[in-house]
Amino acid sequence: MPVKVLFKCEFCGAEPDEETRPALEAQLQELLFGTYLDADPGHWLVWHGGGLYGRTRYACSEHRGDLKAHIREHYGCIGPHPWAMGPHTAKILRRGRITARKRVGPGWSSRPRWGPTL
Ligand SMILES: [Zn+2]
Repeated sequence: MPVKVLFKCEFCGAEPDEETRPALEAQLQELLFGTYLDADPGHWLVWHGGGLYGRTRYACSEHRGDLKAHIREHYGCIGPHPWAMGPHTAKILRRGRITARKRVGPGWSSRPRWGPTL
């Protein structure tokens, strides 16, 4: 029985929609350190900390900027990882991302995207 993990935005408590959840769950399988990763199609941002970089943190599409500001404020002096610029896609997520896009269908790309400053 797979354990259903509860994902919540650090800032507003929002939970991911059913299309985004598989992307977040896929990230749990990976051992990551000091890495941001996008979770689409909901455009969540995940900070995979570890060690000095703290625990894994989640932000919804509205608060991904707040998450980066928070991480940079607290961990920015440790190393270059918190300063990474988006988009934060990763090869390991390709399978999950394609699945998610198919499920949403045409029009998912019309969602507003965040600028390169976030
Ligand atoms: Zn939020």
